[in-house]
Amino acid sequence: MRWTKLLVMLGVAAGFCWPLAISSAVPEQLTVYTAQTSYSLPVMERQGKPYISLADLLSPLGASAPTVKGKEWRVQINKIEARLTEGKDKAAIRGNQFDLDGKVLVENQRVLVPMVAALPLLTRMLNVSVNLHQPSRRLFVGNALAHYSAGFIPGETPSLTLNFSQPVHPEADQQAGHTTLIFNKEPLVSDTGKQQFGEGAIQSLAFSEENGKASLTVTGNAHLNILRSDDGKTITLQPDTPVASASPAQEQSTPAATDNQRHGQEFFVMIDPSHGGYDKGANFGEKLLEKDVTLKLARELHKELDDRGIPSRMLRDSDVDVPMERRAEITNEQRAGIYIALHAGLPGHGVRVYTSLLTDPQQATAGRFLLWESAQAAALDRSKAVGQAVTSELRKKGMTVAALGLPIRPLNNIIVPAIAVELAPEGDDLQSLESSKRNAGIVAAIATGIAQVRGQIGARP
Ligand SMILES: [Zn+2]
Repeated sequence: MRWTKLLVMLGVAAGFCWPLAISSAVPEQLTVYTAQTSYSLPVMERQGKPYISLADLLSPLGASAPTVKGKEWRVQINKIEARLTEGKDKAAIRGNQFDLDGKVLVENQRVLVPMVAALPLLTRMLNVSVNLHQPSRRLFVGNALAHYSAGFIPGETPSLTLNFSQPVHPEADQQAGHTTLIFNKEPLVSDTGKQQFGEGAIQSLAFSEENGKASLTVTGNAHLNILRSDDGKTITLQPDTPVASASPAQEQSTPAATDNQRHGQEFFVMIDPSHGGYDKGANFGEKLLEKDVTLKLARELHKELDDRGIPSRMLRDSDVDVPMERRAEITNEQRAGIYIALHAGLPGHGVRVYTSLLTDPQQATAGRFLLWESAQAAALDRSKAVGQAVTSELRKKGMTVAALGLPIRPLNNIIVPAIAVELAPEGDDLQSLESSKRNAGIVAAIATGIAQVRGQIGARP
């Protein structure tokens, strides 16, 4: 997946007083979200309450222009007619009277109605449910809603990944101490309150909505880079990396696996529960999803390694979607000692252990730069050693194990020893994927295999 930097549209005028500028320059508006579109219309104060123009509200939905006979105005959507009378606070639709919560006003041949009248008008004319967030002036028609989930990954270079249920195109406003993503068009709502992550570059995430817009604000003490995935459904925020990290063109100065020692960093295993969030992975019957199986197994492996005094980190520890490329970047940036991806899949039975299928280490570099697509080449021998150790431990437990070389993502992009372990169910018994007893044997075998090669890996050039 390629990433593009989100343009910083606001906050470029340094020294400009934003809060004052916004309150005086930005007119009040109502935003209407439907499954097909979204649009904003001006809100004006009349009779001590917010009013909107009837035509502004209805014409984007395909309504006819209002027509007048005497004091009665008529407007139609899909042959459903509403009749409103100037000076009256009721309207008629399909022979029923309903309350508009304020008088119909006419100014320069424009029909004005109270903003809250949009609720009964749209409900009855479109025959759908309508939901108005009145203080923030956001109107949701039918089931037009967008959700998000957030995944925070701590570490030296922390990152926050936001996954959206539909593509989003926010503007960004970056100021000291916070980065705000502003959603002008998307019917974004929040299922959670403010989320706290800790200290440092990324501290918290808060949702807010006002004046027909939704915002997500990240607070922290560093400038954050904002990366948006090509499909627009994932946005990652991350501080500028303090040291050169394995991005698609990393300068290769030292063999990667010994970096831990040279930098005096602690060895740790990066455990990657594959899939997550909207990426469900394989489907095992009605309720069992690969993303849940891998997360459960990852937590068990994390604990098993912990019990043996081997440090490990979880690449995700919640139900979030972390893009493939990002998984490799995080592993490389944090200088993991060993990377292990967990999968679950059909067909067959037993366990499959994968290493990358790169063949020619010469392909890995172009001059002094490590190539992203073959970053794994220099570590491949050590990856195979890890794979073999894990495979033989699994076999000792009586499991059927296939050891395979496969160009499986993101192994090729990882500069440290990397394997993937895929669980298959025992025959037709899909529930065996969740068997605590079976999984305990698998994580014990993986941990023993890692413990065996840990010393060799660090020591090898
Ligand atoms: Zn998978």
